[in-house]
Amino acid sequence: MQTKRVLIIGGVAGGASCAARLRRLDERCEIVVFERGPYASFANCGLPYYVGNVITDEKRLLVATPELFRARFNIDVHTQHEVVAIHPAAREVEVKDLAGGRLFREKYDALVLSPGASPIRPALPGIDMDGIFTVRNIPDSRKIREWIENRHARRAVVAGAGFIGLEMTENLVARGLEVTLLEAAPQVMPLLDPEMAVPIEKRLRQCGVGVHTGDAVTGFERADSALRVMTQSGRSFAADLVILSIGVRPETGLARSAGLAIGPSGGIQVDACMRTSDPAIWAVGDAVEVTDVVTGMPCVAPLAGPANRQGRIAADSICGRPTAFRGAQGTTVCGCLGITVALTGATEKRLRAWGGCEFESVYLHPGHHAGYYPGARPIHMKLTYRRPDGRILGAQAVGEEGVERRVDVLAMALQKQATVFDLEEAELCYAPQYGSAKDPVNLAGMIAANVLRGDVSLANWQEIAETEALLLDVREPQEFAAGAIPGAVNIPLPQLRTRLGELPREREIWVHCGVGQRSYYAVRLLAAHGFRVKNLSGGYQTFKTFHPDGAEKPQFVESRLNEHREKI
Ligand code: FAD
Repeated sequence: MQTKRVLIIGGVAGGASCAARLRRLDERCEIVVFERGPYASFANCGLPYYVGNVITDEKRLLVATPELFRARFNIDVHTQHEVVAIHPAAREVEVKDLAGGRLFREKYDALVLSPGASPIRPALPGIDMDGIFTVRNIPDSRKIREWIENRHARRAVVAGAGFIGLEMTENLVARGLEVTLLEAAPQVMPLLDPEMAVPIEKRLRQCGVGVHTGDAVTGFERADSALRVMTQSGRSFAADLVILSIGVRPETGLARSAGLAIGPSGGIQVDACMRTSDPAIWAVGDAVEVTDVVTGMPCVAPLAGPANRQGRIAADSICGRPTAFRGAQGTTVCGCLGITVALTGATEKRLRAWGGCEFESVYLHPGHHAGYYPGARPIHMKLTYRRPDGRILGAQAVGEEGVERRVDVLAMALQKQATVFDLEEAELCYAPQYGSAKDPVNLAGMIAANVLRGDVSLANWQEIAETEALLLDVREPQEFAAGAIPGAVNIPLPQLRTRLGELPREREIWVHCGVGQRSYYAVRLLAAHGFRVKNLSGGYQTFKTFHPDGAEKPQFVESRLNEHREKI
């Protein structure tokens, strides 16, 4: 005997995960999923790699088919069926069979909305011309592949340098296209604090990508067989195809027409169990508004992890199990041309806009594993914490190896409301090829804890231009000669005790070395001798990493390109 009838709108991340969990919890309920597109439960996150030919077989993107849902879970999945209206009073939905054209009504005891978010496609002149694509589903990425292949496309413009834009850029470069990346914000990956985006922009340029930030797309024109993309600055860029990746908007049309409450961030309002303002309707995924764990503010978090977790939570709630979504912290990772960038929690710019607490950040640049073991690559990290209690508020990291592992640890710490003092004590994996006895996560905690305990005061690289302080570089002369902060004086650490007389007592001194460790010793030494002294957070490396400059083309790009050229 059936217990209840649950209908689910949207059969991908949140919807499919809700359906499968429901069946695990209740063998008797009837579960029906309506999916507008031709596929349910596909890997949206894999789409850029299908365009790039890293995933060569389209079928690999199908996580589960309607046949599998039926056979394994006794769930009815109807693809190409769009729910066009919800009638909450009658507890019915109106469904359109997109293939057959039939319109019919279905009753529910519980309804789950997981309609996702649609790519923003602003009403710009020429936006509907052929060759301008968004990437949301398998047919989108198939069309892009076919366009590239059939038209022998050579030049692409990617509009929007968020994580989907960066992933698309990488994959188009890998296919041998000349790529121009346009971004309206003044930096790539606008989620990050601006300085943390500099290494990504450098890498893009090193790989031949034309990067234009602070320049929004204003329209498109056809120029012979190609397209022209016009921007606010008056420039125009020729392209054989354009990828629009300028953000997504929660799909709330159905919810609005059904009279469900919509939150200030534009997502469907839900409680901690993912229940909407109608007690028989739940909503999950990209379409819902959640609470930011750091600021407590309403936000949308269009990411696969939250969508999947929320799907499970809605199922638990429908089955009467106590449950609650803990809130979103925006934990994100993105790979682009050999560089990985990851973040969790709040950035400084978000904290400033919020204004709800006192905070500060430390920078560090540890190797991803022990320096004595060959191949260590630096991770550029920024840890932001609350003053005075040291509670972790956010972390950002960029580098070639080991980035996501550190941000994952910090993400869990943040969710558990840990402090920088907890990070000092975290016991993490270590063997030379994987990490260090003092893992970058421990180091971040130690540096921040030293500040909070008053053992050292920090100066910030952004303040260098304005400071009256003496910039003291305590690295070795050959390191100093190879590159230094303009205006800095060099007294190597081993000579410092014997050269104290050369330093001013009336003027503040900002000490730095390569990454901040030798300068920390110098700060302690100088403070003990009565100098007013600060440690420049992250040292010369911070200054160098976050200042745009050119650099050699990394080897791996050539080898990756060759690999792809062979395949295509
Ligand atoms: P979706 O998975 O988008 O599913 C919604 C489905 O509902 C759609 O298939 C839609 O057709 C259907 N639908 C909508 N309205 C109706 C209706 N009225 N009737 C029937 N069906 C309807 N996130 C990450 O965390 N990491 C990544 O690496 C990552 N990469 C991504 C790459 C790309 C190219 C894209 C597009 C997204 C990526 N995401 C990534 C985001 C992630 O895919 C989403 O956050 C997640 O899929 C949201 O799940 P959802 O169930 O809310 O929506």
